[in-house]
Amino acid sequence: MQKKVLKDAIKKGGSSIRDFRNTSGRKGNFQKNFNVYERNGLSCKRFRCKGIVKKKIISNRSTFFCNLCQI
Ligand SMILES: [Zn+2]
Repeated sequence: MQKKVLKDAIKKGGSSIRDFRNTSGRKGNFQKNFNVYERNGLSCKRFRCKGIVKKKIISNRSTFFCNLCQI
């Protein structure tokens, strides 16, 4: 019984590691957005960027992006 659970856990772990890789790949983009998240009207956080963070509503979701680096 325990062995079966362990096997299942390994199976799930393996698949979740794959999922994690996929999501972490996408997270790269999210993290860029994170720099400007909830910073509407403030200066961009990116190094040496003097852009201003703008808020934009896309399909009822508010996104934030820098007017210079556009992310
Ligand atoms: Zn910027």
